[in-house]
Amino acid sequence: MNPDMILIRFGEFTVKGKNRGVFDKRIAEQVKQALRAYPRIAMTRAFGRIYIELNGERYEEIAAKLASVFGIASFSPVRRTANELEAIRAAALDVMRALPKQPGTFKVSVRRVDKGFPHDSQEMNHLVGGHVLRELPGLAVNVREPEVELKIEIQPEGSYVYSSVVPGPGGYPYGTNGKAMLLLSGGIDSPVAGYLAMRQGLELEAVHFHSYPFTSEQAKEKVIELVRRLSGYTGGAIKLHLVSFTDIQTAIAQCNHSSLIITLMRRSMLRIAERLAGQREALGIVTGDSLGQVASQTLSSMNVIGRTTELPLLRPLITMDKNEIIRIARQIGTFETSILPYEDCCTLFVPKNPTTNPNLSVVEKAEAGIPNLEEMIRQAAAAVETMTIAPDMKSATETAGEDDWF
Ligand code: ATP
Ligand code: MG
Repeated sequence: MNPDMILIRFGEFTVKGKNRGVFDKRIAEQVKQALRAYPRIAMTRAFGRIYIELNGERYEEIAAKLASVFGIASFSPVRRTANELEAIRAAALDVMRALPKQPGTFKVSVRRVDKGFPHDSQEMNHLVGGHVLRELPGLAVNVREPEVELKIEIQPEGSYVYSSVVPGPGGYPYGTNGKAMLLLSGGIDSPVAGYLAMRQGLELEAVHFHSYPFTSEQAKEKVIELVRRLSGYTGGAIKLHLVSFTDIQTAIAQCNHSSLIITLMRRSMLRIAERLAGQREALGIVTGDSLGQVASQTLSSMNVIGRTTELPLLRPLITMDKNEIIRIARQIGTFETSILPYEDCCTLFVPKNPTTNPNLSVVEKAEAGIPNLEEMIRQAAAAVETMTIAPDMKSATETAGEDDWF
């Protein structure tokens, strides 16, 4: 049985000094965007929730779309009916009969918001529960641990009957907590970091460093595809800034500190990202670092690398282990793309002995010895190629290289 409606609940967006109304409005826009391909649905906003009338659209399709809207705490397929006892009883029975598997036990939980309704919640529990028990032989009431909780909300405009609560992605509506730059490699970690940052309400623009022609066109397409996947969580598009890192990387590789190459590269990347952040009015940099994973992600390395920028470095994966990260990557649909074999610029000149414990003053001296580094950083930031990438873009492999993305 297709339900009539979906009831969407938000989390508690309690940010001091910020108006809750801003979040509520934004999440309504996001839901509308996510469901734009379904013209028959009708949306109504109420305090802390949204009602969707399906008008014949398939529940499963709509539910799948809602799973990618940040800020949704949970949702329920509901039957809506008039505020009359017999109508509520009939709807309750329908909902019970429509369960995929008939339970052995249940309980009824009524919430009467409309105080004009003649029976209070306790009476209604009995009036509806008794009816369901009479009609469905073999069913028993279990108040402590029911297999099914049949919920009924009596609101002024009508009553809502449902039995399932589906968890949403949680978090904050996209873009309600400021903007940051995402350092996106082609690996497994940074797309997951981007997803988690966006789920917390950050708007993102992605920055990818390539060393074309040492890195291939496929490596670039892979990153475009990752951004396309991430853009499915935004309700719109994500900007991707492609930065040529070839000259800087070559200059770094030529200096006489092979163990510091990765440290120096990361610092230059951050400085370019910081410049782009300034131009794009972003207030932070998100990376896929996870503590201890590789030499550049020891606490000591992160300390020396991070000192090159004054922007906050946000590392959503910092305490996660690899299996946890992979689980999320699969869930959000980036894993299969991330494991494609195309090389990243950082894997090109990887030293055999990258330091896990760099010394800041040694690093600063090595950096000062690289001719024109500051100028190359300025030029790289000035010469970025920027793309706007949305979920409905044709497959990245087909369109890469064309200018007309839309
Ligand atoms: P990932 O799986 O995201 O590549 P990783 O565990 O392989 O991460 P590194 O390759 O050392 O770790 O990179 C650490 C972080 O630095 C990445 O998560 C990403 O945020 C950033 N980064 C690395 N290479 C690039 C690149 N070519 N362009 C943009 N950001 C990069
Ligand atoms: Mg990597």
